Amino acid sequence: MTTKLHNTLTRSTDELKPLDGNKVSLYTCGLTVYSQPHIGNWVSYIYWDVLVRSLRASGYDVTRVQNITDVGHLTSDEDAGEDKMLKGAIKEGITAWQVAEKYIQIADDEAYNQLGLVRPDHMPRATEYIPQQIAFVQELEDKGFTYVIDDGVYFDTSKLSDYGKLARLDIDGLQFGARVADTGKKNPTDFAVWKFSHPDEKRDMEWDSPWGKGFPGWHLECSVMAREILGDQIDIHTGGIDHIPVHHTNEIAQTEAVTGKQFSNVWLHANHIKVDGTKMSKSLGNIYTLQDIKDKGFDLDAFKLVVLSKHYRTEGNFTWEILEAAQNRLNNWRAAGDLRWQGAGKGSVDSGLLELLQNDLDTPGAVAKIDELLGTEQPTGLHKLLDEIRDLLGITLHRDDITDEQKSLISEREQARTNKDWAKSDELRDLLAKQGIAVRDTPSGTIWAHQ
Ligand SMILES: [Zn+2]
Repeated sequence: MTTKLHNTLTRSTDELKPLDGNKVSLYTCGLTVYSQPHIGNWVSYIYWDVLVRSLRASGYDVTRVQNITDVGHLTSDEDAGEDKMLKGAIKEGITAWQVAEKYIQIADDEAYNQLGLVRPDHMPRATEYIPQQIAFVQELEDKGFTYVIDDGVYFDTSKLSDYGKLARLDIDGLQFGARVADTGKKNPTDFAVWKFSHPDEKRDMEWDSPWGKGFPGWHLECSVMAREILGDQIDIHTGGIDHIPVHHTNEIAQTEAVTGKQFSNVWLHANHIKVDGTKMSKSLGNIYTLQDIKDKGFDLDAFKLVVLSKHYRTEGNFTWEILEAAQNRLNNWRAAGDLRWQGAGKGSVDSGLLELLQNDLDTPGAVAKIDELLGTEQPTGLHKLLDEIRDLLGITLHRDDITDEQKSLISEREQARTNKDWAKSDELRDLLAKQGIAVRDTPSGTIWAHQ
């Protein structure tokens, strides 16, 4: 049970050493639910899904939290700009609460029904943790880490000696720009933990606090919900590389300021996927959704294969040609799976898939290994291999599986034959035939096929 992961914090690939025996606490930053998700949004979640599957298959007892950012935060990482949720609400002529609810349902359906990702154990919403977020800011204030200016309560990053350690930020090199000076912040890296509502506006989402009516800063919810559900320290925190310089840096600052302990032992970050070798943008018309993939007749498992064929730490690319190649690979796998499943003998050899995933989530290695194994004339242990592909990568190849009951009838019949109980063997063969399953006895064991 060894799993090696590349830790952004240490810049090295280390063996996972959970804080508590074989228990692994894992926190993933979730989506901000203000618009239709595009394929780029799902990339990191596909990797973390395989991470959770492989950790569990390795014997770890994983508890996973993935938050839902349903409270308006600002469109940029800076504490200025427009509120995403409010912007969506104005665009759609509904309230911010309705915007959040609508996209929570859409994202949930896409992730867990369509992509078949494993549902996290806890999916807290930021709006459900407002009192806890206020209490957390209070703790920060009591410990002297905050100050209040016109538009909110700010975290004073100069109070932490190791601020920016995740991103190795060059704090001294950061220029105190004019824009920053205008805001009244003490340091360019200081960030809002509580933003005040504008005195002349009524927001859909705002709450009373000891400092004034307003809403939490974006980074706050993750620190608070991770602590409330998983405790002061966690084993693994995951996100996208864009989270490194600001969001995760500030999560670490807040949590470590309050607890005095290291927040997460391991930080994992997934790289982006480009589309047609460039950034997705509205003007290029290349912001594709899962629906676009389905509309063109591709399987979402083929999209998952595009993602898994590259390592999570390298930048990927999506084109329709690349998707088509992945679809062909998937079709080949399925055909091999169908054929070999029906003809496969028994036996259970180690496919080596789990070992590859335990090596810093080597999904491209796993995909190449499956190509090799399914390309073999008569792979032993095929039943187990197909189960592993389903359990570890979340890709199902055996479309016409038989039921567990039918599998046990086949085993029972094999046992009867071993005991030379021919009457019983024939009786079971007829029973299976009635259910549309034909059995044939070969030197390597019983094989079956749909009639
Ligand atoms: Zn987060």
